[in-house]
Amino acid sequence: MKKQKITILGSTGSIGKSTLDVVARHPDRFEVYALSAATNVAEMADQVARFAPKRVVMADVASADQLAILLKQKGLIAGVESAQSAIESIASDPQTDIVMAAIVGAAGLAPSLAAARAGKRLLLANKEALVVGGDLFMNAVKAGGGKLLPIDSEHSAVFQSLPEDASTWQRRVEKIILTASGGPFRTRDVATLRDVTPAQAVAHPNWVMGRKISVDSATMMNKALEVIEAHYLFGMPPEKIEVVIHPQSIIHSMVQYNDASTVAQLGTPDMRVPIAYGLSWPERMQSGAHALDFSKLGAMTFEEPDRSRFPGLFLAWEAMKAPEGTCAVLNAANEIAVAAFLDEKIRFDQIHQVNTETLSRIAPSKPSSLTDLLGLDEISREAANQVVKGLIC
Ligand code: NDP
Repeated sequence: MKKQKITILGSTGSIGKSTLDVVARHPDRFEVYALSAATNVAEMADQVARFAPKRVVMADVASADQLAILLKQKGLIAGVESAQSAIESIASDPQTDIVMAAIVGAAGLAPSLAAARAGKRLLLANKEALVVGGDLFMNAVKAGGGKLLPIDSEHSAVFQSLPEDASTWQRRVEKIILTASGGPFRTRDVATLRDVTPAQAVAHPNWVMGRKISVDSATMMNKALEVIEAHYLFGMPPEKIEVVIHPQSIIHSMVQYNDASTVAQLGTPDMRVPIAYGLSWPERMQSGAHALDFSKLGAMTFEEPDRSRFPGLFLAWEAMKAPEGTCAVLNAANEIAVAAFLDEKIRFDQIHQVNTETLSRIAPSKPSSLTDLLGLDEISREAANQVVKGLIC
């Protein structure tokens, strides 16, 4: 079998590293062609030494210069690229077969779109790209003729629980049920959420993830983004998508059919499982994760999400029903709010306030190009920054 060449966008992050872990287990099937990151020079230098990619990009120019010096000292490849266009170029490079989109935030939109347009097998972890890109993104996948495979464990679970023939989904599916762990504050007194520190918010009970998605899990904005992601990925109307809290994170999501039968996908909470599935689909291969041991599992419990504790979750349905572009505004506001919280500029409970106030300040007009989307993202960030400033004063 010819080896598949892979490009990993965001290789120094949590998903990027898990992807390299899976790829390293199958040297006969995969070869790392290109890697990109932003600032983590030491991690990237280690990855270059281990995987010998042909192309390396650092989004941050100073980090690219540092990495080039370090690699030269180690006698490794000299050229490190650093322009934004270079990330898009490695995503659409004719030499690469598979692209793992694992940049965090809307910064991943343009390169993910480039991979989609080039018809790559696109493994999408970067949910924000789809939340912002919406129909434009899905149309690019269709026009490119490649395959989009979800990496979010919930969407991978839904994909695995759906029939292969996508033309039957609308007819047969009653609803998609996304599970959520409820994060670290599921049982904490709501009145004390204002005192949450960044360290407490990033300490997820079940998953080890990057800082932004960890905060999103604590507010359940992550689930809001996933509801929007499911809407676009599976073409399901908002009212056919439901969220249930399942604190054990064993059932990764479910599909309920119109005969009242529910199909679910289960597994240990380990992102290497959906990553291996995306890489090997329609086959399966070793992921490195442990299989479930049902004799040791104990109880699986379920709860309805509480609106007063997780108000951000419910913004998903409002944004999907609002004029097109509103999901992009919500995403931008949330990125600014989370960054401000992690920088200790605003309180945990003010993340929701930044999101709702930004939504009320921006009335998007239908975005019809990447330029429109990036423009909308920028003005939404400016508005969110203004809201943050107002909260600091
Ligand atoms: P991390 O923060 O751990 O990693 C993010 C990666 O993106 C790093 O390699 C980082 O580089 C790079 N990066 C950050 N900003 C930029 C930028 N402006 N331009 C280019 N590269 C950039 O995030 P995660 O791995 O946790 O998450 C990645 C994506 O996957 C997110 O969209 C998240 O929602 C999604 N996801 C993550 C899951 C998880 O378990 N972690 C589960 C499901 C989805 P550097 O470190 O060098 O600065």
